[in-house]
Amino acid sequence: MYKYEMHLHSKGTSACGSAESVDYIERAKEVGYAGMVFTNHFIRGNTAIDRDLPWKEFVEFYRQDWLVAKELGDKHGIDVLFGVEDGYGAGKECLIYGLLPEDIAECENFRNMPIAEISAFVRGKGGFIVAAHPFRVRGYIKNPDAEPDMSLFDAIEVYNRGNMPEDNLKAEAFAKKCGCAVISGGDTHSTGGFGFAGISLPEIMGSEKRLVEFLKKGDYTLLYDENKNDFGEKLPSRA
Ligand SMILES: [Zn+2]
Ligand SMILES: [Zn+2]
Repeated sequence: MYKYEMHLHSKGTSACGSAESVDYIERAKEVGYAGMVFTNHFIRGNTAIDRDLPWKEFVEFYRQDWLVAKELGDKHGIDVLFGVEDGYGAGKECLIYGLLPEDIAECENFRNMPIAEISAFVRGKGGFIVAAHPFRVRGYIKNPDAEPDMSLFDAIEVYNRGNMPEDNLKAEAFAKKCGCAVISGGDTHSTGGFGFAGISLPEIMGSEKRLVEFLKKGDYTLLYDENKNDFGEKLPSRA
């Protein structure tokens, strides 16, 4: 099986990131991960990029931070895929898989689109959209208990390593109730946080589109940090 981190931030493009994008390649080798998806904070998230840049320049800046890691990953046999995490209002965020930078560069109105339009855009491009840490409790999230509208999402992030355990348990209960697809992500902002979450796939993906094929088929298992989250608290055991 091949482990992939599905939720990853680097400091070149995420204001809260503490590792450079290239730093994750060595870390992936250390902890036996086959790859990762960069999901840096985008135009409506905690971006480190100047939001006043013209759209294509903004996207190009975002692309470069991923690209240097991808190029290094290619040399070391680590699969580095493109993704996005963006806000869509009231502190809620979505994870986008399967798109390429050029898809987003062409969509000048991306920054203004409500979540229904983002969802339609992502799906129209053959992508996969996930409700990130849906029941997270934080000061910037207005209504933590608001349930994601699963007509707009292909899955939820049922385990987020940056969440409190009870937030993740709410996500689990919701997933069981609605029967939706689930993924796991480290929400990794540092190299030390890499290697405890994500998904395990039966093959190397090699492309964003192929990852979406496997996500849609459900052909993967979840990786959890069995002992603790970023707050050092015990998680209940999972059957
Ligand atoms: Zn962050
Ligand atoms: Zn994140």
